[in-house]
Amino acid sequence: ASVVSSSEEPEERAIEAALRPKFLDEFVGQARVRRQLSLVLEASRLRGRTADHVLLSGPPGLGKTTLSMIIASEMNAPLRISSGPAIQHAGDLAAILSSLSEGEVLFLDEIHRMSRPAEEMLYMAMEDFRVDIVVGKGAGATAIPLELPPFTLVGATTRAGLLPGPLRDRFGFTGHLEFYSVAELELVLRRSAGLLDLKVTSAGFSEVAGRSRGTPRIANRLLRRVRDWALVHGIEQIDARAAAAALDMYEVDAKGLDRLDRSVLTALASKFGGGPVGLSTLAIAVGEEPETVETVAEPYLVREGLMGRTPRGRIATPAAYAHLGLAVPAGAPF
Ligand code: ADP
Repeated sequence: ASVVSSSEEPEERAIEAALRPKFLDEFVGQARVRRQLSLVLEASRLRGRTADHVLLSGPPGLGKTTLSMIIASEMNAPLRISSGPAIQHAGDLAAILSSLSEGEVLFLDEIHRMSRPAEEMLYMAMEDFRVDIVVGKGAGATAIPLELPPFTLVGATTRAGLLPGPLRDRFGFTGHLEFYSVAELELVLRRSAGLLDLKVTSAGFSEVAGRSRGTPRIANRLLRRVRDWALVHGIEQIDARAAAAALDMYEVDAKGLDRLDRSVLTALASKFGGGPVGLSTLAIAVGEEPETVETVAEPYLVREGLMGRTPRGRIATPAAYAHLGLAVPAGAPF
């Protein structure tokens, strides 16, 4: 996995956890979602009720897990974490739901990847705080109703559109997380540098922020790579030059594109002559799942004006050729 998108290493995960903001006030950016969410939480506190179910959508690393933890701590409630892919059978979900305590926050990451039967069980649980546990098979099967304590479901998905309508409709509040501005990422980095006891100049923060793909997780990860680089080179204060040198070494370019972004863009620009090309063909060309290309690489490339989406497929833009240092081929789609 690439240096910016892997989160498998235990040490990396531990640092990531340590850098998570604990309360809504410490959560940088996403002003609209924060305002709306704070109202939802305040209202349920005043009513003395469990908060409404919350759906959070947006590309990876923008703060969905962090917000679910914040919801739990703001509501003074325990938090249970699971994910769609971990729930393959309705029974898996029943086991989780039946062990929730009153007011508990249940975070389901990648909720769009839950199995169908589990999803249907979740509808009833969300609406009526009840599930039917099916015992036995075939004609002898019986459904035993089970009351659940009121809980708050926080679902996370890379795109709300991946969810079936009936599931989407059962959330009282949907927050869509947007990519962060460079200024917001600088704030994230300042906070992290403080926690990691790192000396970074303002220009150093801007350099890292500008290469972070609008994503706090990447910003924090790049900061740690820069920290490693500075340690090895005996540099005490990280300035823009040190940050740039470190990140060049890790193949994070000046626009923040990582290896996946660049291979998608390069395939599109050279192999397919700038497109239009369908998502699955493009994904095969770079050896990735279509969903990864669509939800991880594409949103940022489109936002940066490097890729366009047309009814006939994906196209590279003139800016893509300029960024890759390639000549525009004859017959390019723009
Ligand atoms: P997601 O669940 O959307 O993939 P996470 O909530 O796991 O993203 O966030 C990834 C990392 O980025 C966390 O370690 C967290 O510290 C940091 N982070 C995310 N959003 C913010 C924010 N708004 N302010 C500060 N740090 C953030």
